[in-house]
Amino acid sequence: MTTLITLVLAMTLVPVHGATAQQNLESDLAKTSGGDLRITFIGHGTLMFEYQKKVIHVDPFGRLTDYSRLPGADLVLITHDHGDHLDPSALRQVKKEETAVIVAQGCAGKVEGATVMTNGDVRTILGITVEAVPAYNIVQKREDGELFHPRGRGNGYVLTFGKTRVYIAGDTENTPEMKALKMIDYAFLPMNLPYTMTPEMVADAARELQPAVLYPYHFGETDPRRLLLLLKDQPNIEVRIRRMK
Ligand code: ZN
Ligand code: ZN
Repeated sequence: MTTLITLVLAMTLVPVHGATAQQNLESDLAKTSGGDLRITFIGHGTLMFEYQKKVIHVDPFGRLTDYSRLPGADLVLITHDHGDHLDPSALRQVKKEETAVIVAQGCAGKVEGATVMTNGDVRTILGITVEAVPAYNIVQKREDGELFHPRGRGNGYVLTFGKTRVYIAGDTENTPEMKALKMIDYAFLPMNLPYTMTPEMVADAARELQPAVLYPYHFGETDPRRLLLLLKDQPNIEVRIRRMK
């Protein structure tokens, strides 16, 4: 009986959408025309993708996980130079000799060997199309009046795996460039305040973007469930809440 209870308990603790064995990180599997895409939710603004035996780390951040227990990167994408996105020691841990490192304009000169993609740039790396989308604030400012994320310094990225398009927005608000993106299957939109978007701004962007799946991420103390209410009238958008505080 005890064994049975233990077993049932153990089963309920395993997230139904899968977990990365090493650290019990949550992950989701997406089917693409090029094969399976595994999305691992490291936390905060940080993700890992596995596709066709290649590993992509987005904004590796050592405070969230032990990178020595995760696979090294074939490609690293850095959205901007804030410490929770550009972490030199985490970057050293995931980097292999042949790793391609893509950074935004605001990181130029800060990461040795990195390639800068400015807003609007498009490249194909490891067979994956990478588009750099502007990521910036419109209204959210510091006390001194400067925007938390001035335009031109940061990138979001649209990655195309087969025919599946994944948008990782970076630290941004609901900009016209974001709203103009087309055919996004999976969208990661940030929601931590006061640096990025309110749930209302995320909902506004989602109504235009129409992603099949919306992951609120980098949400800090904001309750991501608020989005479920705000997007109740959008049956074509599935809001998925993962541990991305
Ligand atoms: Zn930031
Ligand atoms: Zn951030």
